[in-house]
Amino acid sequence: MMDSGLAVVSRGTMAATAATSLGLMAAGASAATGAEPRAGTAATVSIAAPDVLRVDKQVQGTALVVFSGVESRTQVRFNFGDGPGTDKRHGRCKFSSAIANPQNCTIEMGNDCCAPGTHTSTAIVGTTKVQRRITITPPPVRWTPPAGWVQPAGWSVLDRGAWYHACQNVEWYVVRANQPARGRQIVQDIPGELAMFAIETNLSFAETTVPAAADLTFAWKETGAAVLGGGGEIWFDIDHRWVMDDWRGFGMVTTPDGWRGYGHGVLVLHEVMHAMGFNHVDDRASIMGSAATIGLGDLDGLHTTYRDVPCPVG
Ligand SMILES: [Zn+2]
Repeated sequence: MMDSGLAVVSRGTMAATAATSLGLMAAGASAATGAEPRAGTAATVSIAAPDVLRVDKQVQGTALVVFSGVESRTQVRFNFGDGPGTDKRHGRCKFSSAIANPQNCTIEMGNDCCAPGTHTSTAIVGTTKVQRRITITPPPVRWTPPAGWVQPAGWSVLDRGAWYHACQNVEWYVVRANQPARGRQIVQDIPGELAMFAIETNLSFAETTVPAAADLTFAWKETGAAVLGGGGEIWFDIDHRWVMDDWRGFGMVTTPDGWRGYGHGVLVLHEVMHAMGFNHVDDRASIMGSAATIGLGDLDGLHTTYRDVPCPVG
């Protein structure tokens, strides 16, 4: 039964948003003729599937067909997504059971789908055919420099282009092991900084408690620099004074002992930019240059690589 790529699934896996149902209970099925009605006349069939689904969000049972009231004389058939094979099975119930308890005489078939495009699922029982169409949409894309693209002065991307895809929900996590007692503020500032990036990128950010689920990880370790970032990770140095609470704040700050310089909020903004895929630039008005705040060049980069890229459909 698996040769056509179809598999039996439980109702629990059904990603159903809509269903088409057609009862086959012919008007004459219970007529008092004394003769048992034709095979298949006790059966009903429905196909459940979303209308639109992203190719990377499929699960087994993306399209699920449920035949019920299937008796042993009846063959049911299901073809999903214009696929190469049709799955065929026979019921096991007696006709009287199929009539009395159709929910106990069910056959379910379903599978995950296929390449992006519009596909048709077809279920056949008796002389009845039920069809549903499903559109599989492409996976989300990450922005990369298009052919012929001219690098602007105010922003630049690392090798891969954008690290996240458009409209992604970026789950972030802080590895608190090794966090120094004087290094609390820089962590407390993270949600506010990400909220700003959410506005300018159309990404969303949510803290996760599952390290392995994190798309963006902050961690404390010996880095040799105050902070390092790139490709979804940011590291704070465990004993660099610049990441400690004395240097809290954004823009230029003055420490309690009279030093003046960038607040460590500037460092985090800069490193989050790296984590999202941005590189350094010479433009002194950009935070990826030497500015103490997000500049017009940075905004142009955030908008071009994230905010202005269409969200994936489905
Ligand atoms: Zn940097």
